[in-house]
Amino acid sequence: MVLTGSARRCALCFGLNRDFSEKKGQIAHLDKDRNNSSLENLVWLCLECHDRYDSRTSQSKGITKGEVKVYRDKLCAAIEDITENVLRPKIAASGDKEKSQLSADRIAKAEELYSSVQNWSATVSAIFRHLHLLVEDLVTFNDHMDAIISLGNNNPGEFARLSMMLDMHFPELKLDFAKAQIAACRSSQIVDEIRKEWESDYYDGYQYKSDVRKAETRFHNSCQLFLQKIAEMVRNA
Ligand SMILES: [Zn+2]
Repeated sequence: MVLTGSARRCALCFGLNRDFSEKKGQIAHLDKDRNNSSLENLVWLCLECHDRYDSRTSQSKGITKGEVKVYRDKLCAAIEDITENVLRPKIAASGDKEKSQLSADRIAKAEELYSSVQNWSATVSAIFRHLHLLVEDLVTFNDHMDAIISLGNNNPGEFARLSMMLDMHFPELKLDFAKAQIAACRSSQIVDEIRKEWESDYYDGYQYKSDVRKAETRFHNSCQLFLQKIAEMVRNA
């Protein structure tokens, strides 16, 4: 139940960072009592978040049991929504054989697009997370760039694949993608602005904090809309 309910998505990554990607993880006990395996007490967390939740420092940072519960329930609701809107219509595709074959192909491609957008969105979300560290002056500029480059290396070609799929199969969605892309690009513009200042004597990254937050919110919102449109398309296929 916990496994299928959260589809191996980590409740904390989802709740804190809108990271919806599939993770290596485990079932965690909310009250940290291994003997209490009631469903209400269980949550799927990635290895990193599980460590964070179990360690003392997590308590000082204030990740409470109640918070995790809220994230878990939101995550399960989101997954149920996707199952309902994206996967079920595929099963229901019937009728005239040729027509249903066509729409089944289209649905398969839309599902591929959907998960491709999710992967891309997880990478961009990670970039924003790193950017927060930079503006909070918790990492140096060079460390930040290293982190961003290695993120790009982890996910080579995701962005190109996404653009290509849109070009070939879903040109009608290109505008929606462009909106999300513009919001994502704002992160590298901010980095450019910081780069100029970083080399000067007075560097105050914190002045960019609200810019980063705004761009991040705009990105998540436009990505959400983009995903909804794909889901809608599947429903109407
Ligand atoms: Zn996590």
